[in-house]
Amino acid sequence: MTTSGSGTRMPALFLAHGNPMNAIADNEFTRSLGRLAAELPRPDAIMVVSAHWLTWGTRVLSAETPRTIHDFSGFPEALYAIQYPAPGAPGQAQLVRELLPEAALDDGWGLDHASWLVLRHMWPAADIPTFELSLDLGATPQEHWDLGARLLPLRDRGVLVVGSGNIVHSFAGARWEPDPPAHPWATEFDAWVADALLRGDRESLVHYDSAGTVARLSVPTNDHYLPLLYPAAMRTDADEVTFPHAGIEMASMSMRCVRFG
Ligand code: ZN
Repeated sequence: MTTSGSGTRMPALFLAHGNPMNAIADNEFTRSLGRLAAELPRPDAIMVVSAHWLTWGTRVLSAETPRTIHDFSGFPEALYAIQYPAPGAPGQAQLVRELLPEAALDDGWGLDHASWLVLRHMWPAADIPTFELSLDLGATPQEHWDLGARLLPLRDRGVLVVGSGNIVHSFAGARWEPDPPAHPWATEFDAWVADALLRGDRESLVHYDSAGTVARLSVPTNDHYLPLLYPAAMRTDADEVTFPHAGIEMASMSMRCVRFG
């Protein structure tokens, strides 16, 4: 593992999280997260754009010691016992406010499972300061993209930006038996987005509904898609786009992860 330092531009990531049970699973997805973390420069702080923190207006977590939020129901007790006691990052939260003056600091939220599900497989020691950015329920996809673009300077300040969601996320299409085949519409939309990412096709990523029926089935609500737009908007011409993991679980959850830079 290398260390971040002056002159190091951090990559930006989009990470799938999917079923909360992935928090305690040992599978190809969770192992890919561990490998990815080992390849990255060590961040000074991690900012997760969370599919599970939906607010009116953008909010930035400024808590010094964020609580672990178990924001799901009906899962085994082992999931509720998980703590991810990473320190907060109030200094970096303040930096986000300088870049987005309209954003509000929030010390009441904590780390929801969009953060800790993935981070515990990457940095199990929970020793990197971590905070979250909410998704503004009132913003259009274009406005989310624009917010992401304004946060590009974070990459030069040692902050690893992680969008956490799923490119395809449909409960209506979910199948709970082991390893079900993916729905063809899920496979098609996931591949359509992957192609747009590789081509740097901003218009398609923002106007994903232009993919038609496969988009409507794959993104019935866009809370899990929108976190992708933040790291995608922080891509520079010098950045390669790679997929540390891909696949579809439960027939309708894309587990594709994206590394920019
Ligand atoms: Zn989720």
